[in-house]
Amino acid sequence: MADDTEELTAVTDSAVEVAVFAPLRQNFSYRCPVPAPALGVRVRVPFGRGQRIGIVVGFGPTPEGTSLKEIDAVIDPEPLLSPALQSLLHFGSAYYQHPLGEVWATALPSLLCRGRPLPGTDDPLYLCNAAAIHSSARLGPRQRALLQLLQQSGPLRRQDLPATLRPALPGLLARDILRAEAAPPPLLAVQSSPHALHAEQREAVAALHAAHGFSVFLLDGVTGSGKTEVYLEAARPHLEAGRQVLFLVPEIGLTPQLLGRCRSRFGAAVVAAYHSGQSEAQRLRVWHGARSGQLRVIVGTRSALFLPLARPGLIVVDEEHDPSFKQQSGWLYSARDLAIRRAQLESIPIVLGSATPSLESLQNAYSGKYRHLQLRQRATAMSLPPMTILPMRRRLLQAGLSIELLKACGQTLEAGHQVLLFLNRRGYAPALLCHDCGTVLFCPRCSAPLTWHRRPQRLRCHHCGHEATHPGHCPQCASVDLRAVGAGTEQLEDYLQQRFPEVPVLRIDRDCVTHAGQLESLLARVHSAGPAILVGTQMLAKGHHFPRVTLVGIVHVDQSLFSADFRATERLAQTVLQVAGRAGRGNEPGRVLLQSHVPEHPLLALLQAGDYGAIAQHLLEERRSAQLPPFRALALLRAEAHRPERVQAFLEAVAGQAPAELEISGPFPSLLERRAGFHRAELWLEAADRTQLQRALKHWLREVGKQPEGRRVRWVVDVDPLNF
Ligand code: ADP
Ligand code: ZN
Ligand code: ZN
Repeated sequence: MADDTEELTAVTDSAVEVAVFAPLRQNFSYRCPVPAPALGVRVRVPFGRGQRIGIVVGFGPTPEGTSLKEIDAVIDPEPLLSPALQSLLHFGSAYYQHPLGEVWATALPSLLCRGRPLPGTDDPLYLCNAAAIHSSARLGPRQRALLQLLQQSGPLRRQDLPATLRPALPGLLARDILRAEAAPPPLLAVQSSPHALHAEQREAVAALHAAHGFSVFLLDGVTGSGKTEVYLEAARPHLEAGRQVLFLVPEIGLTPQLLGRCRSRFGAAVVAAYHSGQSEAQRLRVWHGARSGQLRVIVGTRSALFLPLARPGLIVVDEEHDPSFKQQSGWLYSARDLAIRRAQLESIPIVLGSATPSLESLQNAYSGKYRHLQLRQRATAMSLPPMTILPMRRRLLQAGLSIELLKACGQTLEAGHQVLLFLNRRGYAPALLCHDCGTVLFCPRCSAPLTWHRRPQRLRCHHCGHEATHPGHCPQCASVDLRAVGAGTEQLEDYLQQRFPEVPVLRIDRDCVTHAGQLESLLARVHSAGPAILVGTQMLAKGHHFPRVTLVGIVHVDQSLFSADFRATERLAQTVLQVAGRAGRGNEPGRVLLQSHVPEHPLLALLQAGDYGAIAQHLLEERRSAQLPPFRALALLRAEAHRPERVQAFLEAVAGQAPAELEISGPFPSLLERRAGFHRAELWLEAADRTQLQRALKHWLREVGKQPEGRRVRWVVDVDPLNF
């Protein structure tokens, strides 16, 4: 019977479809070898004049009139990913309209994409018949030496054996004196929570413990309300039942903190991190540990979402509102949204947590699609810090700081506490201006001014990376009176250090923190320091715990109140409340001062009240009346080229071919109209819901791909765009 079926498959499915690891919109067919490889194994295939590695993603008949090439090699003895995870990638490719081969390549550790064998095939060698060493005279001298080595050193991998002893191996394996197997799983060392959970935490934990199968929870808890404690308690029964828990955080910088808490609660041996700051070999080890089930808790950034898990139990997405969960280049997926899909495919619960949930998630909670769990109070005795708006019109400013804010800094430092100043602008000044003719120095390749940096002295474009030295005089009128306008974090740092010479001023932004270790050591300095001032960008705003900070100053946020990006106000509210949430997390109450030139703006009044729920309701009403997400589904078709008329011609041509379900507007110039020499514009594509959008896009993009104008531009589709 079995033979018959096999033959039948071979006749009907004579071709195997391969998604090669390359940005190509189509899959390729090869002759199906016998026996047929499983779905989800890697193969090496002839491609063009060379070879490529790809994944077996389907079977089909040989297309008529073609003769297919043979596969060169089947690399894996078994599929790399479970059927659920394979489905997730297929879904992610279809939903975001991105080639399957590149989707797989994004999801796998790069060593596997380059053909490294599946780990686990060289598991360590265990001595399982130790008595054989003493008893048997039938062992050869090399065999005896090998056993003695293993007895002394413990399990070893084949490649770590001395070459002279390797020939002894097959005989010992055959006689079952040695066995190669995965190391026994390390033991969990579960500690219970150091705190007595408060009532809202207990309620949230109880709801999570009661979850069976797929369900989405939104843990909506103010900063410092003890969300992390809830995650850890929610994870515990899953771990005790032998399942695994995956934590996603938006940034590498946030992994050490959560990792530390997981390790002390569940035992260091079973907890690991997974992020782009690790070496390729490290990443592959964690990947294998997750796949084999040796690792029980993984804390990782975006790509950790694709880790194979032997026994998935729970997924947690912390700071779910954070736009970093959306990938910005290549495959433009949202790790949060795909995590929800994964939970569904694996039939497990998922928790999205935030003090300032995205409007999308809140709307789903309000409509009953997600379970809404709320923590309204801080876990410690300290209440949320009050916020005061400092009006700035006609005030004297020094490096962008008002007298009131500086005075408050002085008082805080005198009391022995720390100050955090938030300014989302790197560099010394956001522009250089000629005082004689008014010329602003622009990036030659972008429609944006160059930022002036002092250390090192450089003009830098924050959009394309272009760098130049200070020109010394104005390119228009040759005046030497070029002045820095506005202030960035570098200027704040300089000014504050001069003004408060006796305390350390620590700047934390992307210019001084380029890898995870640096951030960790800076944070360690903050924790050990007495009075100090922290100056930083967005990097400081996220989930960090600064117990000694009692004053938070928000230096400048006005530009977001008038941005053309419809998400700017949501981001502003999230950032301000997150930054504000860094104050008063220790034993002293905190306060927040927000400087503004438009203190009467209604959003600022809402922020001052500190009620994110009220702000979100207000913003959701705006979105509803403007018919924007989450009330409509949105995608962008962006195009760019050196010549603007090509972009225009392409977008106009394809807009004309769009199906009726797709409501199209544009082409509009992008917010940054020129970047790195490319002119940029976009079409807005809207539909009633995401399913309709996905379906309509799929058909239309086939046509878009055939457009002759498309060859002269670079174009990409961004589904559920977050960045404009
Ligand atoms: P969040 O993730 O909401 O910011 P955390 O879980 O990090 O909050 O908790 C904030 C602080 O409060 C931490 O220092 C934590 O140890 C403490 N904490 C959490 N839950 C409790 C509790 N039930 N009782 C006392 N302290 C708590
Ligand atoms: Zn000039
Ligand atoms: Zn530029």
